[in-house]
Amino acid sequence: EGFPPDLAERVSRRQAAFGASSVLFYEQPIEMVRARGAYMYDVNGRKYLDVYNNVPSVGHCHPKVVEAVARQVGELNIHTRYLNRVVEAYSEKLLSTFPAGLSNVVMTCTGSESNDLAMRIARIATGAEGFIVTEAAYHGNTALVTEISPSSLRKRKPAPFVAIIPAPTARDGMSVEESFAASVAGAISDLNSRGIGLAALIIDTIFSSDGIYADPAGFLKAATDVVHRAGGLLIADEVQPGFGRTGGGLWGFERHGVTPDIVTMGKPMGNGFPMGGVVTRPELLKTFCEETGYFNTFGGNPVAAAAGHAVLKVIEEEELVARANTVGAYFRQSLTDLWATHAEIGEVRGAGLFIGLDFVDPENGAPDTALATHAINQLKQNGILIGAAGKYGATLKIRPPLCFSVEDADLFTGTLDSILKLH
Ligand code: PMP
Repeated sequence: EGFPPDLAERVSRRQAAFGASSVLFYEQPIEMVRARGAYMYDVNGRKYLDVYNNVPSVGHCHPKVVEAVARQVGELNIHTRYLNRVVEAYSEKLLSTFPAGLSNVVMTCTGSESNDLAMRIARIATGAEGFIVTEAAYHGNTALVTEISPSSLRKRKPAPFVAIIPAPTARDGMSVEESFAASVAGAISDLNSRGIGLAALIIDTIFSSDGIYADPAGFLKAATDVVHRAGGLLIADEVQPGFGRTGGGLWGFERHGVTPDIVTMGKPMGNGFPMGGVVTRPELLKTFCEETGYFNTFGGNPVAAAAGHAVLKVIEEEELVARANTVGAYFRQSLTDLWATHAEIGEVRGAGLFIGLDFVDPENGAPDTALATHAINQLKQNGILIGAAGKYGATLKIRPPLCFSVEDADLFTGTLDSILKLH
């Protein structure tokens, strides 16, 4: 397929404006114009099955969310220093989904802001500076949060206050739980020996950027105990697993039977309306607020609250957590069956509607980034949108809107099967 001249012109204009920061998916980028449910439509009216986007988590342009936002934006759209029933009702509804001790929320506009605030709270609560993160983690884009996002560092060296540990896998004769706890314990000794100390272990509870590591449920328990015994906090970054995606409750940490000290949220929270939040224990927030200020002009404004509340209602009404669980289990099984017939698939992992599929060189098991890129571009030619994750970008990150159906799953698996057969 040739590169249409008008598309080449559009791409070069875009690059002229955004320079080196311009990021576009695909060898031939797509111009998107609208979307609904699990489908997106380009400028030529071509339909794509969305197996990638988790921001429109309850479905693209869900009519109930659209209606709630439109109504509120026409009624009151202001900062957060007035009493407002929409805002208060939403915060109570959101907090009701958390374990009892986690009873305060601070609203932000992005996942990055949420993690930045969580780090500040953790440092003040513990009096220590250090953070432990996994090796391909991404936690956001502020100056502070970039330091704990090894996947963003490129040529930069990790900051001295960061200890980096491997993604959770069974290693050296240890189970996933044991090896992850051992890595955390090692990182704590390292931070202590350098006089930095542990503020928190911060983890995305489904390890998305690392390549999606979900099993066995409960494996975070031992590491959490190690952190708490050392006087540190557990920050659960729920930007990816949160709002029902893992199919085992609203929050990813629930699958592991642990209670974090701080939870951060973003992406799916407003189904596309930019919003985020930090949930924590009142005493942690109190100590923080006594020591330093925090104000967020747009965080938790009435329009955000209307969007967020509509999202929670849709998750309930459409039973999307149960759907993530059942459709996800079906999808994972069909991909596991595909794994059995293709040597270039190294593993299929995940929980709910978040699945990782590794491509490997069948000769030696090495990650095959080129094959992942090929599959992603071929799937796009066949009207299916997908992306990659993991240290080598060799893992398909399968993460559709939660309204995804078994027919959608069959379409994906069947198309991937044909692409691999032709390869
Ligand atoms: N944490 C995780 C796990 C994320 O995946 C992301 C975004 N991809 C963020 C934080 C940052 O969120 P935002 O882009 O809304 O700042």
